[in-house]
Amino acid sequence: MFSEKRQDVLEGEWKNKIKKVAHDFRSPLNSVTSLIEIIERKIDDPDLEEEFEKIREIIQRMKSLIITHLSANQKNHPLTDKTHVDCQSLVKNIKTDLSGVMGKATVTIKNKNLPVVYANETQLHQLFLNLIDNAIKFNKKKKPKVVIKLKELKHKWQFAIEDNGVGIKKKYLTDIFEFKKRVEKISNIEGSGIGLSICKSIAENHGGKIWVKSRYGAGSVFYFTLPK
Ligand code: ADP
Repeated sequence: MFSEKRQDVLEGEWKNKIKKVAHDFRSPLNSVTSLIEIIERKIDDPDLEEEFEKIREIIQRMKSLIITHLSANQKNHPLTDKTHVDCQSLVKNIKTDLSGVMGKATVTIKNKNLPVVYANETQLHQLFLNLIDNAIKFNKKKKPKVVIKLKELKHKWQFAIEDNGVGIKKKYLTDIFEFKKRVEKISNIEGSGIGLSICKSIAENHGGKIWVKSRYGAGSVFYFTLPK
């Protein structure tokens, strides 16, 4: 255990590191934003207004996701800004974020509307985004299908992100949420191997759990819970 003072120093160092890395990542995004503005002015086509707006939204979200990425990996990161988050519209935004990689994939919400939960919106967005993105990415079907299901338990909500993708071999299932366990090298599928470890941190930061069931070759279901 660290002394309280040492803990404060470590937290201070961590915050400075986050600031520095976040700044390094944000700078190129700011340049992209400026370039997009120039292109938009030059093209001056009202038909493309919606697309440009989408690009701006995605860049904005990427900026906040950088902070989430960095802070979610800090163990027991205190969740300072929790709000009431509507998961239904969250998933709608994610579909917009992923529109560039969706191809013929469909993302549908089974049973009723997803609930409003008390959570850190950026982190929750990251959690759904990582799982839905993986469900589309690790899929070789012509029409990748992602289905989001909800189960109401006594004190918590249980979400399931189900896909008809490549599936995961049994031997990899236990440590798939550990950092840098990129378990299966599948050709043409790029990845960093940190997404699921971030998902685990986020679920646990919120007092929930995350786990997976999968049949190799048939598909996977990623489950996570959040307190009501
Ligand atoms: P990345 O996607 O960047 O490789 P992740 O931590 O998100 O990292 O995932 C770790 C590994 O788990 C992936 O490389 C992949 O092999 C496997 N995986 C994750 N999600 C799925 C899924 N829905 N279907 C099949 N395999 C998956």
